[in-house]
Amino acid sequence: MDIFEQTMQSLSEKSPADKAAAIAEMHEKCPCPGCPTYNRCAGEAKEKLFCINGRSFMCISDPKTCICPTCAIGQSVGLKNNSFCTRGSEMAQRYEHTIWGTSLLK
Ligand code: SF4
Ligand code: SF4
Repeated sequence: MDIFEQTMQSLSEKSPADKAAAIAEMHEKCPCPGCPTYNRCAGEAKEKLFCINGRSFMCISDPKTCICPTCAIGQSVGLKNNSFCTRGSEMAQRYEHTIWGTSLLK
């Protein structure tokens, strides 16, 4: 089990309130608004923490640079992927890579 899997297991074992608080803290600290890909629509919709929450619902469709690889939160939870706002959460991308292989998605 790698760091991300351990983090997800740890989150799943928390009470709903503690899990929500942990995710809210990461959401608050997520530096996505400083990324060139982030836009006003995402800001107004308070979309962030795409690595956990999944892709942007309606706002981001034009990926530019992704700063996720330099993000302290991402490093602390053991992310292996990036561009979560357009490609989906770490969990979703891992699942897709398992099904389709990584070369088709890069
Ligand atoms: S997920 Fe990556 S590309 Fe998308 S806004 Fe956040 S840092 Fe930028
Ligand atoms: S890895 Fe990306 S989406 Fe996740 S908290 Fe960091 S900047 Fe936000």
